[in-house]
Amino acid sequence: MKTIGLIGGMSWESSAEYYRIINQETQRRLGGSSSARLVLISVDFSSIEAMQQLGDWDRAAAAMAQAGTQAEAAGADFLLLCTNTMHRVAAAVSEAVSIPLLHIADVTANAIKQAGVDEVGLLGTRYTMEQEFYRDRLEQLGLTVNIPDEPGRTRIHDIIFDELVKGVISAESREIYLSIARDLIAGGSRGLIGGCTEIELLITRDDVGVPFFPTAELHALAAVDRALSD
Ligand code: GLU
Repeated sequence: MKTIGLIGGMSWESSAEYYRIINQETQRRLGGSSSARLVLISVDFSSIEAMQQLGDWDRAAAAMAQAGTQAEAAGADFLLLCTNTMHRVAAAVSEAVSIPLLHIADVTANAIKQAGVDEVGLLGTRYTMEQEFYRDRLEQLGLTVNIPDEPGRTRIHDIIFDELVKGVISAESREIYLSIARDLIAGGSRGLIGGCTEIELLITRDDVGVPFFPTAELHALAAVDRALSD
């Protein structure tokens, strides 16, 4: 079994899900009292959030690269950045280490294609929805990606930072998300990406009338696949 390296804490609410899903899936596959070998480097999200707000992606890249180096030194065989947004600096992490990075957008695109979907709606932080690093990667993999309009993006983003990263789950915010999802579906999206690792704490497959792609779950399961492969 390979050792999974998690760079987490962004937020810890979703990192806890990664830890749970990875261990549950490892036990399901191997049986008995099996659990995953993993290293978790967990950062203080308040400092990362401030860098994001300032657009200081160089400092954010240095912080993620340092976390990646720590995970490698602690024995990780490959790395996961447990956040969609911080894949903005995925290249800097890859450059800093000599182990592979399992990119969350690649895992998500694979799942979308396996579901036979080619046009998807993307919900995530403003950075993930608006900047090129995430959408471009999905589009290069052959997908058409739609995002909400500006007021919708603001509401999605604010609920992530004001509520979801703090563990606040509200019926009102769920309805806002579902209403924005319905608009994307009416506009042609045939699937929906939960492109922020906390979104799947608020909405689930059962809430959405089209295939739903929860990025934390997909990423965690892909990590188990890789850890248990030869
Ligand atoms: N976990 C979130 C994501 O997947 C947001 C936190 C962050 O800004 O890193 O994008």
